[in-house]
Amino acid sequence: MGTKTRVQKQIFGTNGVRGIVGEAMTPDLVMRIGMALGTMRKGTIAVGRDTRTSGEALASAVSAGLMATGCEVVDCGVLPTPALQYLVREHFDGGAMITASHNPPEYNGVKVIEPDGTEMGDEETLKLEEILFSENFAHAPWDHVGSKRSEPDLKEEYIDAIVSHFPPGIGAGLTVVADPGSGPAAATTPQILARLGCTVHTINAQMDGRFPGRLPEPSPEGLAPLSEMVKETGAAFGVAHDGDADRAVFIDDKGRYVEENQEFALIEDFVCQKKGGLVVTPVSSSLLCEEIATRNNCSVEYTPVGSIYVAREMRSLIQRGKEVIFGGEGNGGLIYPEHQFCRDGGMTAAMMVDLLHARDHSLSALVDSLPKYLIIKEKIRTQEAEAVINALIQKYADENPDCRDGIRINRPGAWALVRPSGTEPMMRVVVESEDKEGCNSLFSEIMAVVRASAGDLSEE
Ligand code: MG
Repeated sequence: MGTKTRVQKQIFGTNGVRGIVGEAMTPDLVMRIGMALGTMRKGTIAVGRDTRTSGEALASAVSAGLMATGCEVVDCGVLPTPALQYLVREHFDGGAMITASHNPPEYNGVKVIEPDGTEMGDEETLKLEEILFSENFAHAPWDHVGSKRSEPDLKEEYIDAIVSHFPPGIGAGLTVVADPGSGPAAATTPQILARLGCTVHTINAQMDGRFPGRLPEPSPEGLAPLSEMVKETGAAFGVAHDGDADRAVFIDDKGRYVEENQEFALIEDFVCQKKGGLVVTPVSSSLLCEEIATRNNCSVEYTPVGSIYVAREMRSLIQRGKEVIFGGEGNGGLIYPEHQFCRDGGMTAAMMVDLLHARDHSLSALVDSLPKYLIIKEKIRTQEAEAVINALIQKYADENPDCRDGIRINRPGAWALVRPSGTEPMMRVVVESEDKEGCNSLFSEIMAVVRASAGDLSEE
């Protein structure tokens, strides 16, 4: 039994292509991505962007490439990635989102959206790269070059769609604070929360690609001002997004950052209590996910690490007649199959309102009621990732390890995951357990095998 190796893409990662503007990320590259996409997909393609300073230049470049290959372009302007995904599914033949998600301001990139609103998967991305590198572009003749129109208000449909999932007025009496981090959700999340009836305060709600208030990654340090504002206003919660608002993270009513696996668990619990079925998440997710599912007579399906694998598995299970009720990653990227098959930060903010409306407890009390687990995370630099994984597979063959992405070893009340990075000569080790002793001993055990098989390595 060997470990499954990921398809090797050259420039695209799991969520599109990213790089530093003016270095790896240039209008030239993005125009070629536009030409490659236009060669593969005909029809009308929606283009959107986050608030980065390079966004307009790169959105123009991708649009030029698309039009040159005969596509019509609808420029949706600045909007969250899930808003563009929703609009593509409703109206268009594909999409290109100019964003570098949570990366710092100097980065930008492209996420390619399929007609069903999902991010492009591995197979199609390989085809796109093939056209890109072979320059096998299908340029349109002069009388078939596409044109472009602007539809900056289409994002209102996305807001309407989210609001329509909830009974009117569920936010009445609830004060909340939204922190879009100077990103595109400044035009969607406060509106969604207000439409649900909440009293909404905002911070970092002026769109600004220099991100003056905080970096696009919503870290506990960056959200300290949000936390202060939650306490000052007596808000029920604060919600913050990453740079393209497919993720949402929370500050509870006591001003504490809610760890993302706990956030997942609370919303999972809420969804599972309404309806039984399957929860889909990557092998890197906390035991909490399994614990909450089991309590509610639901079960968990695991996937490789990456939101597109979760989204695609959810869709494929549903196509096979399974009841899939919820999915996502333990990083605030949550997926609601009744809404759409992608992570959606605005929808997650709305779900938290619905959850608190339905519960008699504050968010802090709900967080405190969750079972506690201990976790150890380690990064190891090594060129010998494959040898390490194979050694672990051999050592733990009797324990029926999960080998869909690296190796996950499951024990009662504990688990460990060792997986190679897709982009660097590095491996990640994660161990989680109900108690400190179990956590330390499983970690030492795994590290002994890693050290014995990796040769030279350094722990970061
Ligand atoms: Mg993102």
